[in-house]
Amino acid sequence: MPKSIFTLVEQSVDKFRTLMSGNGKKKARTFQRREISRDQHNVSRSAISEPAKKVLHRLNKSGYEAYLVGGGVRDILLGGKPKDFDIATNATPEEVHDLFRNSRLIGRRFRIVHVVFGREVIEVTTFRGNATEADTDTDDDDRKTSEHGLLLRDNVYGNQEEDALRRDFTVNALYYCIRDFTIIDFADGIEDLRHRQLRLIGDPETRYREDPVRMLRAVRFAAKLGFDIEPETEAPIRELAPLLTHIPPARLFDEVLKLFSAGHGEATYDLLTRYNLLAPLFPETVRAIEAGEPDELIRQSLKNTDARIAQGKSVTPYFLFAAMLWPALQAEWHRRQDNGDPVQPALHGAIGKVIGRQVQATSIPKRFSGPMKEIWELQMRLPRRQGKRAFATMSHPRFRAAYDFLLVREASGEIEPGLGQWWTEFQQTDERGQERMLSQLTSDAPKKRKRRRKPAQKPAQQ
Ligand code: ATP
Ligand code: MG
Repeated sequence: MPKSIFTLVEQSVDKFRTLMSGNGKKKARTFQRREISRDQHNVSRSAISEPAKKVLHRLNKSGYEAYLVGGGVRDILLGGKPKDFDIATNATPEEVHDLFRNSRLIGRRFRIVHVVFGREVIEVTTFRGNATEADTDTDDDDRKTSEHGLLLRDNVYGNQEEDALRRDFTVNALYYCIRDFTIIDFADGIEDLRHRQLRLIGDPETRYREDPVRMLRAVRFAAKLGFDIEPETEAPIRELAPLLTHIPPARLFDEVLKLFSAGHGEATYDLLTRYNLLAPLFPETVRAIEAGEPDELIRQSLKNTDARIAQGKSVTPYFLFAAMLWPALQAEWHRRQDNGDPVQPALHGAIGKVIGRQVQATSIPKRFSGPMKEIWELQMRLPRRQGKRAFATMSHPRFRAAYDFLLVREASGEIEPGLGQWWTEFQQTDERGQERMLSQLTSDAPKKRKRRRKPAQKPAQQ
């Protein structure tokens, strides 16, 4: 990043602003609006996608203000490639929708617009106001918070400055103007970008109570950008983490995917654990790990996932969830076997129980929970290869994922290596080779390594 970005030229100083915290405490942080001219930063038009530029230009030409904002500006400033482009404008959603035939209005009360260009979707949001001056007993019907401070509705339009201050982190509140190529910074975001730190705008506790998902976003960006979470922003997280249990499971499912598919899954896992944020997402997994189940398989599969993403490959949500819930499944499966259930019914019972509990935390859409179950069930079929079984298993639609899962189990030390290699060779050899391999089979099951969990207690009847 060129040094010059940060030799700020203050072109205009609009006004000072003091943010209030929700508890009536005054937070002595003042912000100045700053403009960073085109020769002082490295955001070039070539880094912005054609569709995003098209939307910005058309809004401008139609007389509206429109800016690139959020990750699009942040990631370019950091020399990275934005995942997507978000645009903020003073045009209303209906006005935006009227300008683009390829757009749709999303959301019921607070509407945003998706402008669709093939696979690329540009999210256009109308400036929103007032979020940092949350007044919990407001009688304004458009902006309501619950008794816990949770923002229930956020429907007030505002000006650009208000829009900046209701955003989460200062580095996410930078606006790029394609008309004069300036960056507008209302919350000292450039300064925090320079120090590589995530700082919430306003009083952290109030902002987390308004929307607990901001705690997950802090961790996600910290892992992805390699940023520190600034001490005051970090301080309340551990204690407030349980507030995530108030978030609808469907939203948490989306957040889990974002957390683990940004290419830094293992680092994200460590941060989630450190800040007590894993428990609201995967309560049964955390309980099982605390009771002695190893989490090596989770780490190993996140390592693999990170490597896949680095190679430009995709990640399947069902594989991710199969791994994240494996310690919980193991604990429940062992518990049932210790209680005398045979292996197979114990597995099926455990699968039902683990999924049933998980969907109370994060939803798992059926199109993912089905394949996830199959990956687990196939773990029992993979050792049984005699006769025609190996061929039947190999033709299962989920064979490939189940085989990958087996390799991860071996790499994580849960089971002795060997079976994975056998399957690797079986897939590579010709028909005669396969016959030979089957006739050489002596034992039916992989040797289990000593279970690295605490000895099972006498059946804890429930
Ligand atoms: P990325 O797209 O790389 O995940 P991003 O910062 O663009 O990162 P988005 O989820 O696309 O994140 O959101 C776009 C912008 O909207 C953010 O940069 C931030 O300014 C604002 N925003 C998103 N979620 C919240 C939230 N929960 N609270 C406050 N502001 C938010
Ligand atoms: Mg974005």
